[in-house]
Amino acid sequence: LPPAEVHRLRLQNVLEKAAGLTRYARDYDPEKMDHRELPAVDLLDFLCHPDRYTVEGKKVKREKLVYPVGNAPRTAVVGREVEESRRVKCFRRMSDPALRQFAPHALAARLDVLRAAEFRGTKTPLRNALIVFSGILEGALTREDGDRLWEQYQVPVFEQFLGIDGELLAWECEVHQGLHVCEEAAYFERGEEDRLLVSFLSNPRLPVLRLDTGLAGRITDEPCACGAAGSRVVDMRRRTARVGAEVQVRRAAVG
Ligand SMILES: [Zn+2]
Repeated sequence: LPPAEVHRLRLQNVLEKAAGLTRYARDYDPEKMDHRELPAVDLLDFLCHPDRYTVEGKKVKREKLVYPVGNAPRTAVVGREVEESRRVKCFRRMSDPALRQFAPHALAARLDVLRAAEFRGTKTPLRNALIVFSGILEGALTREDGDRLWEQYQVPVFEQFLGIDGELLAWECEVHQGLHVCEEAAYFERGEEDRLLVSFLSNPRLPVLRLDTGLAGRITDEPCACGAAGSRVVDMRRRTARVGAEVQVRRAAVG
């Protein structure tokens, strides 16, 4: 099937689930409607009324950590639950003594966890890479964040953009030119004024289409020098500081 048709079917599938199982899309007719006719979901409305968008009793499975280059070395993951292995272990906090004992070569942590750790002066020496989990709630990694983290850890920094339940939606490769979209998990669209909309394709708890992320960005289908196919989100940034502040206030309500 051509990629556009694959996207259409995936979005149709989400629309059917949303229409049948949530309050948010009960008025929509999946038989007749194209997802592009659906109004974008306002981020603050979504954060204020998460129950309208949620399928009760559904949970999101733990994913494997996607390591951006080759196989993961000994990697500590903080603030996100992923499948553990001999080399990949999850920790609750950066200050966990078990994390120091584990002596990771790479660290994968949420942006807010890293900012807080910097504030407290907690860090762990690394050899390979730092993966930063950004997201709809945390915002995108800014250039200032990237520079500071590089100074602190002295290893390459890779961004991974997560959905509301910690599912991977897009990831940065070693070329560092935008984030590769995880095509089975997310469909990104560029709205007016570079608004970035996202549809969750594989989250059984949140079948949400065209959620306004509060971020701006562009989407490109140009091939990446790393050789990975598919589209990339480039130049992702928080639209305004006000949206960022409001999201921080509301975020406690979801998840
Ligand atoms: Zn690439």
